[in-house]
Amino acid sequence: MSGLRDELAGYSKDLGIDLFGVADLTTARDFILRQGGEHVASFPRAISMGTRLLDAVIDELYRHEEPSAIYGYSGHYESVNANLDRASMLIAKRIQDAGFKAYPQVASQYVNMRRLEGAISHKLVANLAGLGWIGRNCLLITPSCGPRLRLVTVLTDAPLEAGRPIPNGCGDCRKCVDVCPVNASTGTTFDPSEPRDVRLRAHLCREYTQRREQRLGVGLCALCVYVCPHGLKKE
Ligand code: SF4
Ligand code: SF4
Repeated sequence: MSGLRDELAGYSKDLGIDLFGVADLTTARDFILRQGGEHVASFPRAISMGTRLLDAVIDELYRHEEPSAIYGYSGHYESVNANLDRASMLIAKRIQDAGFKAYPQVASQYVNMRRLEGAISHKLVANLAGLGWIGRNCLLITPSCGPRLRLVTVLTDAPLEAGRPIPNGCGDCRKCVDVCPVNASTGTTFDPSEPRDVRLRAHLCREYTQRREQRLGVGLCALCVYVCPHGLKKE
């Protein structure tokens, strides 16, 4: 069904989307079922969409103790997420109008506060769609902009042609592990058969950002986004 896929990819560009891909979710069904439940896991495909964050904002994050840098990042983060949510809703509507089911997943929302997880991992979907690999910082790393992007997902039963995962490009790099102020990253290379806890102590990151919020008014840290050489390099 390349006609609908091409139409949706073209439409997504008009909506401010930089990266568009389709994931075959059937290979990860058990994982998705455990995280999101029966309804989420009932969809065989998903569209993954990403919007690149502005370099002028991310390049300031080495000053992440200074309000001008972190408030700038916080505002940008919120506006990009809002646009992703609008785009996912409009893409889902196009799919439904074409006669298929479509279920947009909010760009940034925990549904499991104990495990600090959404209904589905946008990073997993983007990885399956071939948009990038999961780095040591547990973020999606893309060849074009590293981790400097935000993601959203639209689940669907439309038989769209799916992409394929690309190889991990972290190599010997450990910059994101070394920069983390609370040692949240374990440095373990991504293995789809292992739970996230093997790679990321998410509670340490969460507690650190909560302390920052009390102290600075904005919790976001993102040093592991700033430091990745795949985002720092200029094409
Ligand atoms: S956001 Fe900051 S605290 Fe959290 S993992 Fe990245 S570097 Fe560590
Ligand atoms: S900073 Fe290095 S180790 Fe971390 S995600 Fe980027 S390339 Fe991989």
